[in-house]
Amino acid sequence: MNEIKLKLQQIKARIRQAAQKSNRDPESIRLVAVSKTVPVETIQKAIAAGVTILGESYIQEARSKISAASLPSASASWHFIGHLQSNKAGYAVRLFDLIHSVDSFKLAHALNREAGKINKIQAVLIQVNIAKETTKSGIATQEAQKLIAEIGTLSNLKVNGLMTMPPYFNNPEKARPYFDDLRSLRDQIQKNITAGLAPNISMGELSMGMSGDFEVAIAAGATLIRIGTAIFGERN
Ligand SMILES: *Cc1c(COP(=O)(O)O)cnc(C)c1O
Repeated sequence: MNEIKLKLQQIKARIRQAAQKSNRDPESIRLVAVSKTVPVETIQKAIAAGVTILGESYIQEARSKISAASLPSASASWHFIGHLQSNKAGYAVRLFDLIHSVDSFKLAHALNREAGKINKIQAVLIQVNIAKETTKSGIATQEAQKLIAEIGTLSNLKVNGLMTMPPYFNNPEKARPYFDDLRSLRDQIQKNITAGLAPNISMGELSMGMSGDFEVAIAAGATLIRIGTAIFGERN
């Protein structure tokens, strides 16, 4: 068995264990294999080993990798997880099934316009900067609901939930309060907007948890976990 396949099996076993520990259905947790900096040949191995969702952080890199003839677009779903500039929205809607990192109305508006041009309803998540880190993207917690309500008016976007990236800790338990906060925010928004929920808003997805802390994120309710290093090894 190749190394990627082995690592993938280990990760999947850990996902199952973490799910069972918190009485969750393992099927309710989807793995995004984060392939930034990973070459196309290795991505192909990952797909062959059962990876169905790939996560990329840079538009330029994703464009060349996804369009490589050797990667038939039907073989996997691509998610964008990095910081997205509005002027790259046209590429983003053509390349990605889900964009995890919408954090402003300006960006949402640009994505809506570009999605309209290709008759697509673009699925997005709202990235929230739970820890208020100045170095990280994401909308402030208290602004999230307003942004979601505004996106409710954009007919070529749909919101599927929230995403966050907590500060890095050696001890994954320290990330738990941030994951719990994202889940509480989701529950709160869901409760507040049930009355006037636009048809293009649903809050089912929580994208949180990476190689070092995904088990804690699963305990807190993650539905999408984004794992790079634990599958592909250290990035240069
Ligand atoms: C790189 C990246 C990941 C993956 O991190 P690992 O620690 O390698 O698992 C997850 N989410 C985002 C937003 C990233 O940029």
